[in-house]
This record gives sequence, structure tokens and C-alpha cells, in this order.
Amino acid sequence: MQCMWCSNMNVDQGTKDCYWILPDGKDAVHILQIPALVCVDCGSYLTDEMNHDIDMALYARELPKGRNEITYEELMSAPYKNIFDIKNV
Ligand SMILES: [Zn+2]
Repeated sequence: MQCMWCSNMNVDQGTKDCYWILPDGKDAVHILQIPALVCVDCGSYLTDEMNHDIDMALYARELPKGRNEITYEELMSAPYKNIFDIKNV
């Protein structure tokens, strides 16, 4: 596996904890154990695809109320928001 930044071939898969701004821009959530790449030169970071997936999940899914921490697993298995109701109001 190759580093996306420095082309080092010495890259492992690991996890990373990140603060993420919610789509409303007012709040942030701490997302734990996100699958990440770990490069000996660049440190650990998320791929563009992973960034995109998390953005989409935060936009589309219902987060557990009253929590500012969630694991990646929990986020990706959270129920979808019922956006069709909103459209018909
Ligand atoms: Zn690197």
C-alpha cells in the first residue's frame, strides 16, 4: 500500500479519532476509530473517500441525541434521517 501524500510504500492501516464540524456548522462531534492510513513520514490521516463518506453520513444520518462522541461504526449504522417528511411540509 502506498501513501497518498509522499508515495512512501511503508503505509499501514490504522484508526484515527477526529473532530468533525456538523453540517449545520454550529456543533462538532468527536468521531472515534475511523479507518485511517498510517505513514511513517506523514503520520495517520484519512483518505479523501473516507472524508467524503463521513461528510455524507453526518448529513444523512440521525446521530444519537445528547452525545458529542460517536464511533465510526456507530455513525455508519445510525438510521437515516427522514428527509422525505421535511420535503412535504
Ligand atoms: Zn507519507
